[in-house]
Amino acid sequence: MTSNPKAIIWFRQDLRLRDNPALTYAASVGEVLPIYILDEKNNSNFPLGRASRWWLNHSLRSLDKSLNGALCTFRGDPIKILKELVSTYQIENVFWNRSYEPWQVERDTAIKHKLQIMGIKVESFNGSMLHEPWEVLKPDGHPYKVFTPFYKQHRIKTIPQTDTVNLGHLRFVIPNQHNTDLKSLNLISENDWSKNMMSEWTPGEEGGEKALKLFLSQGLYQYKLGRDFPERNAVSKLSPHLHFGELSPIRAWNEVNNYAISENLETQAEHFYRELVWREFSCSLLYYFPELTVKNINKRFNAFPWQKSSELLSRWQDGETGYPLIDAGMRQLSRTGYMHNRVRMITASFLVKNLLIDWRIGAEWFWDSLVDADLANNYCSWQWVAGSGVDAAPYFRIFNPVTQSKKFDSEAKYIKNWVPELVPCPNKYIHDPSSAPSKDLQQQGIKLDKDYPSAIVELKTTREAALNAYKSLKAVSQ
Ligand code: FAD
Repeated sequence: MTSNPKAIIWFRQDLRLRDNPALTYAASVGEVLPIYILDEKNNSNFPLGRASRWWLNHSLRSLDKSLNGALCTFRGDPIKILKELVSTYQIENVFWNRSYEPWQVERDTAIKHKLQIMGIKVESFNGSMLHEPWEVLKPDGHPYKVFTPFYKQHRIKTIPQTDTVNLGHLRFVIPNQHNTDLKSLNLISENDWSKNMMSEWTPGEEGGEKALKLFLSQGLYQYKLGRDFPERNAVSKLSPHLHFGELSPIRAWNEVNNYAISENLETQAEHFYRELVWREFSCSLLYYFPELTVKNINKRFNAFPWQKSSELLSRWQDGETGYPLIDAGMRQLSRTGYMHNRVRMITASFLVKNLLIDWRIGAEWFWDSLVDADLANNYCSWQWVAGSGVDAAPYFRIFNPVTQSKKFDSEAKYIKNWVPELVPCPNKYIHDPSSAPSKDLQQQGIKLDKDYPSAIVELKTTREAALNAYKSLKAVSQ
């Protein structure tokens, strides 16, 4: 290292160079030390899942490449690491983009305070949201608990401009004795699963840009209706890029907006914006109701008679329930770290309402398996499906996986893709093979419980049991 850096830019969930306000600001102060800290101390309740670790490893590699190998990586408690770095190199400034999960807010507030006591200038920025949680509140200053008014309030606010500052003059420095080897973070072990993941995804900023371009050219024009059909390429698949901050939501919004105006696709775009605002709503809920990852928001559910069955749980996790749409979704999840939104709702509903298994157990499985695992989006969505959240789906809305399958995968393309043993199954029975006369299946070479499981539960009776369980709950004042 030739000279001491003037500032640290601490990358967190903003693993990109474009539209990165902390980085833009850092560029104005002189030479910068770019760091990433794998913090396994402060987030002990929600350690990164397997799929997130895989993604993070590749995303950091991509960021390091964009920084010409200057990214310094650390593992440990951020305050100790930052204190040591600022003292060793007489650094005067530390910059980062804000994070909003409760443990991050607590940690970052403490770090800011400690560094400021040392005389360090600390600046943080909004690099992950369209508007931060405290910018979208009810007129009385309280947070919204219902999506539609939140959305309306959000929509009347102006979306910030994408930052287009040229970072060409940014100068990064690498201290001699610090580790820049990603392997020391011990994020992944290479195996067949991780090799397969590389054929599904391109983690990193350029991967996010490519996904955005693909969505503009192939998804947006059919988004409004197509987004419900799991086998159509109508959705953006931007969720992991947004979660890891490889793409800013501001940039995503503005790019979609520009394209929609030029191609007359404003109605389609509005539906996409709505989903981005769901992301903002979830972030706001977690920010103001930090316990929602562990506790029912609606206390009435505290007495819910959840069932414990490791057998049923593992059949759900493995995609062996005998309901092809559920099994297709769960297998897509295990193999690719992703599941289509509609199928997420159906598989989650099946777990909590047909199997009566606690939503927290399902959320934990998704947390480990999803490449886009996001504390706010995941836990808010699970509570929404379970009926225990704010503005949740009415409890009686119990998805029927067979009806949903016929409606949204009528040609069973999605099913055949992920449950190949059902390819020979006649279309008439493929949504619910257990309802088929065994001779009709056998003619096609399928024997239930040998080639494909028979249904693990009966839909009608389990639906009734769920409704009765719900009725047994006493109303509780919130
Ligand atoms: P698109 O339809 O293209 O939507 C664009 C973006 O909007 C997404 O990338 C995402 O950032 C956001 N978004 C879309 N739907 C939602 C939603 N319902 N809530 C919040 N944000 C949304 N999303 C996650 O990002 N991480 C999770 O851990 C997660 N867990 C979920 C668990 C369950 C049980 C359910 C029902 C949904 C969950 N979602 C989660 C929300 C949603 O399924 C995904 O965001 C979406 O499927 C990602 O695909 P996409 O990028 O193609 O979405």
